[in-house]
Amino acid sequence: MLLRHTPSTTPERHALTINPAKTCQPVGAMYAALGIHNCMPHSHGSQGCCAYHRSALTRHYNDPIMSGTSSFSEGASVFGGQANLLEAFTNIFTLYSPDIVAVNTTCLSEVIGDDLTQIINKAYEEKKIPAGKIVIHANTPSFTGSHITGYANMAAAMVKYLAKKTADGGRQTDTINLIPSFIEPSDMAEIKHIAEEMEISYIMFPDTCGVVNSPLDGRFHLYPRGGCPKEKIEASGSSAATIAIGVLGAQPAAKLLDTKCKVPFETVEVPIGISATDRFIDTLRKIAGASVPSSIRIERGQLVDAISDMCQYTYGKKVSLVGDPDILVPLVEFLNDLGMKVQHVLTGTSTNKYKFEERIKNICGENVKILAGLGKDMYLFHQLLQADKPDLFFGNTYCKYIARDMDIPLLRIGFPIYDRLGHSYQPIAGYRGGMNLLIRILNTLMDRIDRDANEEEFELIM
Ligand code: SF4
Repeated sequence: MLLRHTPSTTPERHALTINPAKTCQPVGAMYAALGIHNCMPHSHGSQGCCAYHRSALTRHYNDPIMSGTSSFSEGASVFGGQANLLEAFTNIFTLYSPDIVAVNTTCLSEVIGDDLTQIINKAYEEKKIPAGKIVIHANTPSFTGSHITGYANMAAAMVKYLAKKTADGGRQTDTINLIPSFIEPSDMAEIKHIAEEMEISYIMFPDTCGVVNSPLDGRFHLYPRGGCPKEKIEASGSSAATIAIGVLGAQPAAKLLDTKCKVPFETVEVPIGISATDRFIDTLRKIAGASVPSSIRIERGQLVDAISDMCQYTYGKKVSLVGDPDILVPLVEFLNDLGMKVQHVLTGTSTNKYKFEERIKNICGENVKILAGLGKDMYLFHQLLQADKPDLFFGNTYCKYIARDMDIPLLRIGFPIYDRLGHSYQPIAGYRGGMNLLIRILNTLMDRIDRDANEEEFELIM
């Protein structure tokens, strides 16, 4: 109801964010950490931060997300959290026996200036980390960046702490590293499906398949079956090449692996839609020297067929999007390929390292309004929609208030999604994911046509 008062004008606004279009860095770091098999994420800060990170992930995945916290109180806030973290290591390894603890910092521990490298070294010296066990860490100050930055920082920390150079002075295996950005486990599974169909040996990390969407089998698994084993991340330093799947979420880890272990990398956009999936498969094909099997060609052909059958429902439809840059760019490209008219694209994540605006304008021309950066919020997005109402818009669960206020159909894509099921299981990546996405778009638009049709135009066959 309050949203009714959002104006369609956008007067200049400073030092005020209303309904941020992002979440905090540790949420992304924790999600990445879950992509290591037998890993316990650990939030170095107050219990409240950890409760928020865990609940955001638990609600999005409808699965219990485990994590430790350094449980800062007034003492730690003033004198630093070293004693808390050292005690936490003892407790975690004694009680929960993970192979790895992945520590992320929080706003508070960053402001205090806790030196995590020094604390972890001290923990090893004092034998608080048992032999064979590992602690890694990522700095994730949430007064800058977003969940995407946090994810990227933790993926890079995996390389920093775990990846090893080849033992024999440079001989590489023919394995390809696949480092995905912050995408759903269903999309990671789809990317692995493509690599497997092409018979490519790969290492994917982080890999949250089978962790945040693990099956219910009547028993509680503190560490579900999925996730990339630490041995494989160690071996990634011997791989022939890396493909970073996403500029902001994946490229920093790939770059570091190149610097540290001389594994060359290529960056591709997340394979959403036909064009981005074509480019991903072509990159895989060239790097791995593999051919594209008929099974993949069939998947592509089916998607092209479905688009050509139904393009009259998507052509010319006005769409607006809010979300994360690595998803938005290929999604915009797919919608443009469907003949839709993209009019607004907004992200609350800083895109300095990505030619985001240029890339989107290259895809859909100069008329699209693009807003990117930490101050860009849902309120601003609503103002834009008020000024120019789209036929359909894309965003996370929080967009449902805008959808209700303006009576615009919403397609839930991104993070977080608290009020619908499917994102963990049904991909939007790859050709099969493109088919899912197309079906969702069409069903949403066609439901709206049926709802709004008068008696004479209400058709049985569409
Ligand atoms: S933004 Fe900072 S203070 Fe808030 S939950 Fe995230 S880490 Fe904690």
